[in-house]
Amino acid sequence: MGETSSIRINQTGYASTLPVCAAVVSDEKIILTDGAGKIIKTVDPIAPGIDEASGDRVRLVDFGILPAGEYRIEAGSEKRQVSVSDDPWQKVTDALIKGLYYQRCGCALEKRYAGVFTHPACHTAEVTEWEDRSVKKLVPGGWHDAGDYGKYVGPGAVTVAHMIYAYLLFPKGCSNELNIPESGNGIPDILNEARYELEWMLKMQREDGAFYHKLTKARFAPFIMPQDDHEPEFLMPVSHCATGAACACFALAYRAYKDYDPDFADKMLSSALSAIKWIEANPEFVPYVNPEGVRTGWYGDKEFSDECFWAYCELFASTGDTKYKEAAEKLYTKGLKLTSYGWADVSGLGALCCLFVLKDRAGEVLYNDLKDKYLGECRDIYELTKRSGYGTALPADRYIWGSILPIMSNAMSMILYGLLTGDDSMKTAALLQWNYALGMNALDLGFVTGFGERSVRNPHHRPSGSDGIDDPVPGLISGGPNKVFPYQENRERFKDIPPAKCFLDETPSADTNEIAIYWNSPAIFVGAYFSSLCK
Ligand SMILES: [Zn+2]
Repeated sequence: MGETSSIRINQTGYASTLPVCAAVVSDEKIILTDGAGKIIKTVDPIAPGIDEASGDRVRLVDFGILPAGEYRIEAGSEKRQVSVSDDPWQKVTDALIKGLYYQRCGCALEKRYAGVFTHPACHTAEVTEWEDRSVKKLVPGGWHDAGDYGKYVGPGAVTVAHMIYAYLLFPKGCSNELNIPESGNGIPDILNEARYELEWMLKMQREDGAFYHKLTKARFAPFIMPQDDHEPEFLMPVSHCATGAACACFALAYRAYKDYDPDFADKMLSSALSAIKWIEANPEFVPYVNPEGVRTGWYGDKEFSDECFWAYCELFASTGDTKYKEAAEKLYTKGLKLTSYGWADVSGLGALCCLFVLKDRAGEVLYNDLKDKYLGECRDIYELTKRSGYGTALPADRYIWGSILPIMSNAMSMILYGLLTGDDSMKTAALLQWNYALGMNALDLGFVTGFGERSVRNPHHRPSGSDGIDDPVPGLISGGPNKVFPYQENRERFKDIPPAKCFLDETPSADTNEIAIYWNSPAIFVGAYFSSLCK
């Protein structure tokens, strides 16, 4: 990887129909020239203000819309090539979806689909219920959750939901064939890939309707390939949050798959109905805690009203039964954050259902009132971008573990603001978040493996760290800078480093450089939107 440049760009290129923005850490005159060396734009020297999150004196420069071609940005002695084309982001969007294929568990990744990243089937042995060791089951399939080999129901549910909503809203941006085993079966590959997780989640449901929280070992595996990981796996106790998230996701999946495979869709809906019955029969919320002796991902969640809200919205959308609408309304009045779409707070997925699926059917409270509140939250997000030198939709004190999630989530909200209002004023701000993910940031680093001249090389990802191949598995997005919750050993290293630079492209740094399925998925949503604008 080359030295950092003071000219920070979207390293995968720019679209010929959208503004070309770069972040320049320089007070010198900035010159944009085209391929023939003709000056297109100059920006006068100016001493930029300090960006709080990075400590950089940085200028965000909007060069406007440029015809397809090669360009060069100069600032003092620094120069950087910039490429503008008609459809620059389909490849990276497709790769982010295919990234989930590489996370598949329980099957071999065959060479014809996985290329050099091929490996034999993993985690196919019988698993044991943690609480009742006499219960043994076969629960193969699903995606490895992140850098580890665990599989978790709640995170899987939101990942699938991001993908389904991306497909429902922006099919033009995510309908390519991806060379996965199901390609060519008449179903879009994004839905084929999501179904791989859904089939596994179905097996995670107990007969009484509840879902096991996760399927993991007692401890994380060392950095070995998945097929070499033979420690026993356990079905950890059932949880309210896993059951609520799976219920919502399955009710949504029912609608996404019913025209392609009615039998599968019916299975999704009946499983969702059995989950909601369990929830209603067990109204006392018990947050999941890892049983003693279990050290794998906790995914602790102390709030359950958001999972229920999302579930009731999707159930109403799929069944038309007004009792679900009434239940959703009751939860809505408790006050939910409507622009959260991550595993811990899924209220935003319920909001998406109300605003883009139910619409008029949602009624006064769940459409009109909810929409006002939603748009208000979007305006707050937009304000964040104006306070950042890089236009990043994240306050300086919120660079948490997986900061890419709030950044991509906030891009989603600003995109949806435009769809809801017809007002494009937040579109460029949303695009700045996509640019951030692909290199226009304080680290001059693309966070998606395999994309960009300077992108993450050493993600905290067991296959990438143990397959003996120099390149990381492609199409995986790194969690990014983390000032708030770094590992103890990195706390000292980061002590005097500004939040947006607390990052290590080093394999052990799960705290800054892990990958996760539910970070890929909001990026898929954002990539699908911007790619759909390029068709
Ligand atoms: Zn596996």
